[in-house]
Formats: sequence, structure tokens, C-alpha cells
Amino acid sequence: MSLLGHLTDRIRQDGPMSVADYMAECLLHPTHGYYTTRDPLGTHGDFVTAPEISQMFGEVIGLCLAQGWIDQGSPGRFALAELGPGRGTLMADILRATRGVPGFHDAAQVVLLEASPVLRGLQAEALDAHAPSWIVSVGDLPELPLFLVANEFFDALPIRQFLRDGDGWCERLVGLQGDQLAFGLGPRATQAGLATRLEDTRDGDLVELCAAAVPIVTETARIIRSHGGMALVIDYGDWRSLGDTLQALKGHEYVDPLATPGQADLTAHVDFETLALAAGATGCAHTRLTPQGVFLERMGITQRAQSLAGALTGSKLETLVRAHRRLTHPEEMGNLFKVLGLYPKTAMPPSGLGT
Ligand code: SAH
Repeated sequence: MSLLGHLTDRIRQDGPMSVADYMAECLLHPTHGYYTTRDPLGTHGDFVTAPEISQMFGEVIGLCLAQGWIDQGSPGRFALAELGPGRGTLMADILRATRGVPGFHDAAQVVLLEASPVLRGLQAEALDAHAPSWIVSVGDLPELPLFLVANEFFDALPIRQFLRDGDGWCERLVGLQGDQLAFGLGPRATQAGLATRLEDTRDGDLVELCAAAVPIVTETARIIRSHGGMALVIDYGDWRSLGDTLQALKGHEYVDPLATPGQADLTAHVDFETLALAAGATGCAHTRLTPQGVFLERMGITQRAQSLAGALTGSKLETLVRAHRRLTHPEEMGNLFKVLGLYPKTAMPPSGLGT
């Protein structure tokens, strides 16, 4: 049975489902899920991410992590971890860029959290030389200093959507109109998780809640607080999300999120305030939310681009210049994407990120 058939049956049986349940089914259904069944990345896929645009992205992240490791006394064993590593390109670039950092590779245990069997296969190929291990939940992270990166991971986690109605909220639900999937609204109710959002919203405003992010950040922050380390979370979004940011991408084009379930990438902007509050509640410090372009510039991406450019001419040089612009320019990814760093209160903040 197709995913549409499965969703239709489920809605007929149980009634309309939350946007979060719809996203989870579309992305991670064991046999029809978008991530479970394919490699979505690259020019022939549905979308391109920063590490797939240029090696410079991962190199800069690698230097930031290695600098943090040195600042915290170069612990002799640590977990070098990534959430949602895609094709393994970012981790491979991190490892290549840190080859020359004495002791870093010997101390590192590479740990990957990945839900997709297809992508786990690609990661195994890309990182073969570094004996990575895979975990199924952040609860399986080792009790070691943790140096972690997550690029475009949190945007793939399911969100619920709520429309403000007076002092209550109506949940946006996915139901049926005839045989077609269609959005509708649930009954008005109070929502404990949205109490603070009554301050900054008006009737008719839509807000999003990503409950799945909280336990992930809480566990990551607990390990960093207890054992040291840092986390770099890079994604598109802002401090408090407002409005409908659910989007579907297929073949590099925006499509209707309900039109082709399981065939398009579904994401939502990351509400960084939720992540920062969860980290703070666990006793971890966090940096100021910093635009990706500013972070990369501070970490020396332009010098790195100049040094790579020295060996290039013609179309290869043009590609490099375009990649630098795409990653850093405010009109491209530079401002839309943000970086949030988590670190122990007793340590220096990650390089390139202010407090
Ligand atoms: N970080 C990579 C890939 C981003 S795409 C890059 O920048 O290129 C999102 C990644 O998160 C994919 O690897 C996807 O399979 C993984 N992912 C999405 N939801 C997940 C979940 N709930 N648990 C584990 N991995 C997940």
C-alpha cells in the first residue's frame, strides 16, 4: 500500500492527525518514509546542504570543535558526534581539517545518530577509515566529553501547529476532504506549552511547537555539563518562530506539503529559543544566536577560500567563489541560517560565537 493509502486509512480510523504525526509518517515511515528510502541530497536530489556546497563549511566547523577541545584541556577520550549526518560529508571534512591537530584523532570516538538505513550506508563508506558507530537515540551517547554538530537536523523533526483563538489555541490537523488530504482545525483548547506565547501573539496567529527537540537537547546538554565539550547547532530559523513555516521541497522546488506524502522533504524553521531554554534548564550555557555568515567569516572562511583559490582557474574557481558567497552572503544562506553553541558554564564559549 502507498503512503497516501496508509495515511487515508489511518485518518478514516482515528480521525485527523497532528502535523507532527503527518511529518513523522512522511519522513520516517519504515517502508515509505522520505528519509528511510532514499538519499535526498545533492544536485540530483531534492535539496543541497552547506557541507554539500563546499568542503570549507566542514573545515571551519572542524577547527571550531578542535579549538574547543584544546581550550578544555585536550581530553584524552571524547565523542565526536553528529546528529543527522546525511552523506557523511560534514564529518569527513571535519576529520580531514583536524588531521594536523596533535592527539585529536586518537582521542576521538566518532558517533553518529541517523534514522535512515540508506544514509547510514553512505556514512559508512565516507567515514570507513574512522570506525564510526551508530546510535539510535541521544540516550546512547557515551558518558564522555562530547563535541557535537547538527546541521539541518532539527528542521526535520516533527512540529505541531496551533492557531490562536482568544486565550486558547486550535491545533492545525491533517484530515480528508473526499479522498484528498486537507488541513483543518481541531477544537479550541488551552495549551500549557504555549502559555508564554500569549504574550507575543494575536488572534489568528500561528505558532509551532517542536516537542521532539527538547529531550534531544536536554540529554546533549546534560552530557556537556557533566563531562565537558560543546554542541554546534546550525539550522534555519530564529529565536521565536511565528507563522506557518512547514515547507516541502522536491527536486529543488517548493511543493504543497500534502500533495506527495513521502516523496518530498518536509521541514520547519527551528525555534532556537526552545533549544536554548532546554539547554539552560539543564545547567548548560549557550551562546548568542549568530548568523551562519558571521560565524563562518569570524572563523576564517574567506582566508580558506583564498588559499584554495590559489590552485584553481576557470570554472573551478568560479564554483569556489559562488560557494563562498552562497554560504556567507546575507541574501543567500548567511542570514537565514543561524548557529547556536552549547558549552559548560565553566568553559570558554565556542570560537566564532559571542555570548
Ligand atoms: N546534516 C546533513 C544532512 C541533513 S538532512 C547535511 O548537512 O548535509 C537531515 C538528516 O537528519 C538526514 O541524515 C536524516 O536522515 C536525518 N534525520 C532526520 N530525522 C531524524 C531522526 N528523527 N533521527 C535521526 N536522524 C534523522
